[in-house]
Amino acid sequence: MSVQRRNTHLQRKSGHSNGEGEVLLYYCYCDLEDPDWICAWQTTLCQHLHLTGKVRIATEGINGTVGGSKLATRLYVEVMLSCPLFKDYLCKDDFKTSKGGACCFPELRVGVFAEIVPMGISPSRISYKKPGIHLSPGEFHKEVEKFLSQENQEESDTILLDCRNFYESKIGRFQGCLAPDIRKFSYFPSYVDENLELFKEKRVLMYCTGGIRCERGSAYLKAKGVCKEVFQLKGGIHKYLEEFPDGFYKGKLFVFDERYALSFNSDIVSECSYCGAPWDQYKLCSTPQCRQLVLTCPACQGQGFTACCVTCQDKGSRQAASPAQSSFKEECECTARRLRAPRELLQQGRLPASPGPRPGHDEDGPCLHERPHLPFPNPSQS
Ligand SMILES: [Zn+2]
Ligand SMILES: [Zn+2]
Ligand SMILES: [Zn+2]
Repeated sequence: MSVQRRNTHLQRKSGHSNGEGEVLLYYCYCDLEDPDWICAWQTTLCQHLHLTGKVRIATEGINGTVGGSKLATRLYVEVMLSCPLFKDYLCKDDFKTSKGGACCFPELRVGVFAEIVPMGISPSRISYKKPGIHLSPGEFHKEVEKFLSQENQEESDTILLDCRNFYESKIGRFQGCLAPDIRKFSYFPSYVDENLELFKEKRVLMYCTGGIRCERGSAYLKAKGVCKEVFQLKGGIHKYLEEFPDGFYKGKLFVFDERYALSFNSDIVSECSYCGAPWDQYKLCSTPQCRQLVLTCPACQGQGFTACCVTCQDKGSRQAASPAQSSFKEECECTARRLRAPRELLQQGRLPASPGPRPGHDEDGPCLHERPHLPFPNPSQS
């Protein structure tokens, strides 16, 4: 990160005072010669429109999630679509919209990074210019339908691959998908390397939230040269759900802001990590400074189960008892214990509808946040 501009004194209320606001999610892969200049321009533009959120800029493009009033987001889209740098690559449809506003983000963060979504591999090594084949939501839907209609999906030549993080697929995913137990996208390449055998001679159908991770994730997988074919869902789950709210994607769509999840239907596919009752509304761990997300149902919350794991709950009570001695480790044990890139068992490559906890880790419930002082796991992922 070479430049990081922040503005914390934005009028966050603008989203409220103008009634219902909106959150925009978009990305554009294109060669940008002067990311610093674009960073300065974006900062001014967003400040002017009272937008909050995150904008990542790199030589490989731009990735933004911004919230504000509907007028502000409409103007932002108009400016982006008329900008000579982006107008040949972006269209109106590339901006995914959802209910929200400036209140969904604590501040505005615009910065220059090496990648517009952190995969941890230089764009000069794996370029967005060599991605998998894009499938429209309709085409993807047909492929998933074909895959699910096969009697033995485990012997199928197709793998439906969720390339998001485990806490995202936990609360919503495509039926029959393989959902890697990884906690950040930068572990995806290691996950692929660890599981190359699994992808041999397969047709891989990849998807993520809005499509941005698939662009380079599919390029990485393709570059390994083991798959028969690599496809990706154009526009991601976001666009798929707009067309197929009751299709093969079940549950909520995780988003990286204070809303945590978008709901397109009433399915609940995850459980309270304390009692196992159906539950999919994330809350921050109650222990001060712990940034893990917790799935705890109202009944369990009522009984005081509000932390990410038992260890953290104890730590919280000890801290409360003697605040002076608090020496809090930045990463909770339940996260530190997780494997970086778990190896799938070949025989059971595909998970049924549920990527439940696997032996050896995750026994204490979900733990999500590797960056303790940021409210969300990863800035500006799609
Ligand atoms: Zn419960
Ligand atoms: Zn915790
Ligand atoms: Zn924990």
